Amino acid sequence: MPVRRLNNYVYCPRLFYFQWVENIFQESADTISGSTLHRNVDAPSRLDDAKAKALGENLPEGSRLRSLRLESEKLGLVGVVDLIEGGADGTEIVDYKNGSARRTSEGEREAREPETFQMAAYALLLREQGVRVTGASIYYAGDRRRVSIEITEDLLQRAVNAVGEAKALAASGRCPPPLKNDGRCLGCSAYPVCLPNESHWWSRVRKATQNDSQLDFGFARRNEDEVRDRILDALDFAAESGKRMPTLEPPRPDHDDGEVLVVQKAGAQVGQRGDQLVVSVKGEDVRKIPGQQVRAIYLYGAVQMTAQAVDTCLELGIDVSYFSPAGRFLGLLRGLPASGVDARRGQYRLFDFPGVRLQLARESIRAKIHNQRVMLMRNGEVPERVAILMAGFRDATANARDVTELLGIEGTAAALYFEQFESMLKGSRGMGF
Ligand code: SF4
Repeated sequence: MPVRRLNNYVYCPRLFYFQWVENIFQESADTISGSTLHRNVDAPSRLDDAKAKALGENLPEGSRLRSLRLESEKLGLVGVVDLIEGGADGTEIVDYKNGSARRTSEGEREAREPETFQMAAYALLLREQGVRVTGASIYYAGDRRRVSIEITEDLLQRAVNAVGEAKALAASGRCPPPLKNDGRCLGCSAYPVCLPNESHWWSRVRKATQNDSQLDFGFARRNEDEVRDRILDALDFAAESGKRMPTLEPPRPDHDDGEVLVVQKAGAQVGQRGDQLVVSVKGEDVRKIPGQQVRAIYLYGAVQMTAQAVDTCLELGIDVSYFSPAGRFLGLLRGLPASGVDARRGQYRLFDFPGVRLQLARESIRAKIHNQRVMLMRNGEVPERVAILMAGFRDATANARDVTELLGIEGTAAALYFEQFESMLKGSRGMGF
């Protein structure tokens, strides 16, 4: 196992599993600039007899070996040490890293834990060659300085244990669950593959639906004939409902009551200055918009909002929705409705009436199908038949006799929607939904 995978394991076992077991590598800006840095440093050389002898006798003070490849069958590790320097008392190892060291609460620079384990693994590999490693440090290109790491017996033992654990995980064939609400995910190159928030959500849903067939989206397992039959049935149903044939005019929004402010940049901040909401990144204003003109704010991932901006949104009735970096809806910040608790209680009491419940369900499914149709017509290349069918399903909701029938219409419309979904993704043919 490469020493870099040990680094991954200590960072996050799931990341290790993706890279080492499933061979999934997702490049990020950090990994690309990291490889570039190593290309500049590396001119890999194997441990030949002359180098082994020099190392075994401890390198003379001031001498250096660069990019030395080491391996150990006993440890099951292979790695390339960036730089080995001979010192007065023994040998020091140096690794090059892109970015900056972590800062302690006292403002001191220190290496991160995965990098510490990586250095310990190099020390173990060298020790097997009879080398006395007296020190280790990491050169951070972002800081342009070295940060020392103390190679203790305790650290070496923990590194050996971590290698054993990583190998056991790989052999288990079970991908570990994602981290929960953990800042490491924001800097992880595997984020787009891992989707930690979404994976947690799905595992919860899976558990909740094991005994609940109502939430089992039936269309996913049906064959095409069955789906087609259901579409035709629903179309007949829609025709019998006496609705006129739908128009095929491109859909347009029927009103414009404010802008939606979407902030996706990690580290951005939404603040307030006078009557304006101000979006800034690293202290630099990138967007200003009068609060009165904003209808809603969508915040994706690590975007902050100041207390003053929150107050303004609550006062002006601007909904603030929070999403994960990958776009999963997490929650909503909304001011109290002016009508207060009594109105809310009255709304809940209405849910006791089956007729009201059915009507509400009809309305929301109708709106959902309408929205799917609008999305397809605006962004996709939908055949005319699909637009007509979707309108048929939308109108059929008004006559659904019960919730079961409504679910059938909703599922059939969804099957049709996802059949056409790919046409909305520009330049990504053949993904299959
Ligand atoms: S996104 Fe988070 S949970 Fe997923 S692999 Fe990366 S660090 Fe681990």
